[in-house]
Amino acid sequence: MADVQSTPHSPPAPTPESAAAPSSSAHNNDEALARAKALRQSYLPTRPYVPICPYGTRSSCPSSLACPEVHFQRALRPHTEPALGDCSYLNTCHRMDSCRYVHWVLEDPGKQVGEGVGKTREREVRREDEETLPPQWINADLRSLDVSMLGKFEVVVADPPWAIHQELPYGTLTDDEMMRMPLGSMQDEGGLLFLWVTGRAMELGRDCLAAWGYERIDELVWVKTNQLQGLIRTGRTGHWLNHSKEHCIVAVRKSSTDPNAEPRLPSWFNKGLDTQVILAEVRETSRKPDELYDMVERILGGRGRKVELFGRTHNLRKGWMTIGNQFGSSDQVFEQDIVANFAAKYPERGMKLLDPKTLKPKV
Ligand SMILES: [Zn+2]
Ligand SMILES: [Zn+2]
Repeated sequence: MADVQSTPHSPPAPTPESAAAPSSSAHNNDEALARAKALRQSYLPTRPYVPICPYGTRSSCPSSLACPEVHFQRALRPHTEPALGDCSYLNTCHRMDSCRYVHWVLEDPGKQVGEGVGKTREREVRREDEETLPPQWINADLRSLDVSMLGKFEVVVADPPWAIHQELPYGTLTDDEMMRMPLGSMQDEGGLLFLWVTGRAMELGRDCLAAWGYERIDELVWVKTNQLQGLIRTGRTGHWLNHSKEHCIVAVRKSSTDPNAEPRLPSWFNKGLDTQVILAEVRETSRKPDELYDMVERILGGRGRKVELFGRTHNLRKGWMTIGNQFGSSDQVFEQDIVANFAAKYPERGMKLLDPKTLKPKV
C-alpha cells in the first residue's frame, strides 16, 4: 500500500469551555487556540502528507498530468474484465490472482512531494528520531506476566483477543481470563486506557473496566473507509447490518485507595485536540488505524510512558512498548530497570539491555 495518509489533520477544535462562553474569555481562548496550534505543529504526521485528488483518476482530473495530488490507477491484469466494474473488496480482495473485477493502485505519493516539502519533512522526522526511543517489545503471555516489572504507564492501548463469535486468525481469551488481566496495576490514578471492543465485547469490556478499576470517560468510533476513500459497504463481518465501524472505549484509572472518588487526570495532558471520530482506511484483518497513536502522542505532548497490549509486529512504534505473544524469542528493550527486573525474576529468558543507537546489546 502506498505511503500516504488518507485523512488530513484538521485544525484544532475549540475547547468545550470556549464554545460555551464565547465573549467573556475570548482572550484566554485565543491563547488556548494558539497553544493547540503550536502543539499540532510539533506533532505533524511522520509520513509526508499528499492529498488524494478528489477526481480520483488522472483521466477524470481537469489538471491531468499537472495535478500535484495522487490519483488512482486501474491495476488491469490478464484475467480482469473491466466491464464487470470494481471489486467490492478493492485492495483487501483475497483473490487478486483470479478475481475478474477491477482493482486499483495509488500512484506513488513520494513522486508527488515537491523538493522543498520533502526536505523539510525529512529534517523534522530526523529531529524526532533523535529524541524518541526505537520501538520496544516484549514477547509474553499477559495472563502470566508479572507486569509490576514494567513500571507504570500514562497510556495503555489494548486490542484484546476477545472471545466473540467470529473466526479470528489468532487464539482468543475467555471472559474470565480477560477479567483477571492485570491492567489496573500498570497505571496510577489518571492513567488513560484505550480499549478496542467489538460485538459482545462492547458489554464485556465495560465489565472488565469495572474489574480492573477504571471509569469510562469517552468512546472513539473508527469509521472504516475503503481504498477509494468511500465508506465500507460490504464488510466481511456482520450478520444483520454490514460492519463499517469499530469502537474504542476511553477510560481513566481510578484511585486504588478511594475507588469512589472522581479520578483525576494529570494536569499536563493536552485536552481538546482531537475528535471522537477516526476516519481511516481498513488494512489487514483486525489491524487498527495508526491515527490512534498520533492522538495519544498529542495528548501526552512528548512526555509519559505508553504501552500497547496484545500487539503484533505491525503495532511496533517509536516511543512505545508493545507486549504480545507473537514476537518469538526476541525482545527489544532499552530500559535498564525492566531488564534488571526480568533478570531477577526470569533469568532463563536472558533478556539483554540493548543500545537504542545500534540495537545491539550494551556491554
Ligand atoms: Zn487531480
Ligand atoms: Zn477482487
